[in-house]
Amino acid sequence: MVKSNKTFYVEGLDCPDCARSLEKNLAGMKGVERAKLDFPTSKLKVEFGEGIKEIEIERELEKLGYKAKSKDFIIRIEEKKPFNKIFLTSISGIFLLTGFLFSVFENNVAVLLYLMAIVVGGYYIARKALVSVKTLNLDMNVLMGVAVLGAILIREYLEGATVVFLFSLAQLLESYSMDKARNAIRRLMEFSPNFVTLRRGGKEVEVSVENIKVGEIILTKPGERIGLDGVVVKGFSHVNQAPITGESLPIKKSKGDKVFAGTVNHEGILEIKVEREFKNTTLQRIIHMVEKAQTKKAPSQSFVDKFATYYTPTIIIFAIFTATIPPICFGEFSKWFYRSLVLLVISCPCALVISTPVTVVSGLTRAARNGVLIKGGLYLEEMGRLKVVAFDKTGTLTRGVPEVTEIFGFNSNSKLDVLKIAASIEKNSEHPIGKAILRYAEKRNVEIFDVEDFQSIPGRGAKAKIANKTYLVGSYRLFKGFKELNAPELKRGSTVVFVGNEKEILGAILASDEVRKEAEDAVQKIVSKGVEKVVMITGDNEKAAKAIAERVGVEYYAELLPEDKIKIVEELKKKYKKVCMVGDGVNDAPALAASSVGVAMGAAGTDIALETADIALMSDELLKIPYTMKLSKKSLRIIKENITLSLLIKGIFLGLAIFGIATLWMAVFADMGTSLMVIGNGMRVLRD
Ligand code: ADP
Ligand code: MG
Repeated sequence: MVKSNKTFYVEGLDCPDCARSLEKNLAGMKGVERAKLDFPTSKLKVEFGEGIKEIEIERELEKLGYKAKSKDFIIRIEEKKPFNKIFLTSISGIFLLTGFLFSVFENNVAVLLYLMAIVVGGYYIARKALVSVKTLNLDMNVLMGVAVLGAILIREYLEGATVVFLFSLAQLLESYSMDKARNAIRRLMEFSPNFVTLRRGGKEVEVSVENIKVGEIILTKPGERIGLDGVVVKGFSHVNQAPITGESLPIKKSKGDKVFAGTVNHEGILEIKVEREFKNTTLQRIIHMVEKAQTKKAPSQSFVDKFATYYTPTIIIFAIFTATIPPICFGEFSKWFYRSLVLLVISCPCALVISTPVTVVSGLTRAARNGVLIKGGLYLEEMGRLKVVAFDKTGTLTRGVPEVTEIFGFNSNSKLDVLKIAASIEKNSEHPIGKAILRYAEKRNVEIFDVEDFQSIPGRGAKAKIANKTYLVGSYRLFKGFKELNAPELKRGSTVVFVGNEKEILGAILASDEVRKEAEDAVQKIVSKGVEKVVMITGDNEKAAKAIAERVGVEYYAELLPEDKIKIVEELKKKYKKVCMVGDGVNDAPALAASSVGVAMGAAGTDIALETADIALMSDELLKIPYTMKLSKKSLRIIKENITLSLLIKGIFLGLAIFGIATLWMAVFADMGTSLMVIGNGMRVLRD
């Protein structure tokens, strides 16, 4: 059987409860194998077989009062108002109001008008409630439905009508504001243009970005946004990369430089060789990852979810109890029945359940706009609770572009020979030091030999064969047991790379790397956010490590092999619990994985960093770390406020209901008010 997968965006989703019943309902459709609806992003994934068509799924959604958009079409966002719901809600309100006016002199007409208000305003509620009842899901539509029917039963028509009107108004407002929060993510997509200019047969043609293949050359004019990720092959310009890196300072771009979809070209014309298809551009992947981040739930969210699963049934049981036991003992059926209806309304955990996701989504989106890609709600929360931040040295605290400063030839070996051997081996190396040596040699047009059996030895160096003889380049660890290790002139706080064969050391190369200028500032800001310990862990020698650590103001661990780095991270974790490791993401991947939160620097353009880190900083800026911590603390605070507020209001109304003071419409109004407050509060994270 042929299976299809389709992602829809569902509009008008107002409550996590509704999301769950919708999921169940779709899964029950013939031909549908699986349906998964993520409430915070309103992304619906459906797996279906041959027996059913996409349009039928869309129709089913529409029947339930939602609007579905298939993912391909939401690249451009148009916000359509759910007109029907607005219309019905207003009519219901008018009926309610006129009924209220009539009630002064003609009660029967008033009752009729109230009933009309209930029918009109309750249309969508009833439809959703029926679906939920079918799937045995006691969601808020069912609870409200029961409350309204109950109100009619005891002839509280005004109450019933008010509940219906307020509830449908609440749903309208909630779905409107939730859509607004969700759209913040999708708005990132607006950054990328729909069409790009292509040169074909001497003519310039406009082509939809989706139809461009890897390897084609696109043209970007001054002021235009770049359509796809690629490499500049011709031209010179400055590009504002803010949509990707959060960095608003334009970056110089010329031949050989990478550019990203969504970034803005300033003054020159750039010819760009496309390196990724539209759906794989860095921007698209950022959006995708932010949306996916929702599935890694924040701890506070898990707490809320758990609470809600117990809370609702408990109150419902309590309501049933109230409707039966006291009337049997004391009579006064309608009074107790009414109180139990109020309890039913109060049993909806809506505001509580919304409180965390809306804040988390806002936090993730805010971060993404600033070039910080957080890959789970979990990490957003963890960043605010860190006790230790550990930095890698090369490429993290330092710029990662070391320069060769001096070369030594020991015994009778010439400097040139030492450089030749080192450069020939390092030609194959990915390590920044290796690259520095090769750069240095190439600049001086030094002869480079062919090598065989190249082997990189992580955290130590590399080796290879030249003319059938094995040579080694790397730290002194690689040469343990060799003579001549402590050549006195080498002790200067720079990285020392020894060059030798299997028997002796032939010479050494010194390289030094610039400390990032914001490093000290970033460390101070991190400390001021309540972090107890900031450390640097490096494979480099003690002297070099000390020099940098002292400048930046951190403790340090030096001369570590990759496995030692993991050990240190694990020890720190044992002692301090929440440890963040910051690295360049390529050779630090294991240590990043061992930490509570792994942060990779400069992730734009490097796939490994983007995929492996928990948080990827798209730019190379260390200050994004204290920024993310601040954002995290703010989100945590708002989540706490939201949870407290919703619990408090529920608690108060529970009390009022028990003493018979709360009315139905007050309960609905309180629920609506809390939900809206919680959403508004959560969205505050988007601004600052
Ligand atoms: P860091 O912790 O500073 O990122 P690494 O763990 O990657 O450093 O490497 C530790 C040390 O091993 C370096 O300081 C360098 O002396 C040596 N080294 C590693 N790879 C190479 C290489 N390809 N060429 C020369 N030296 C190397
Ligand atoms: Mg490194």
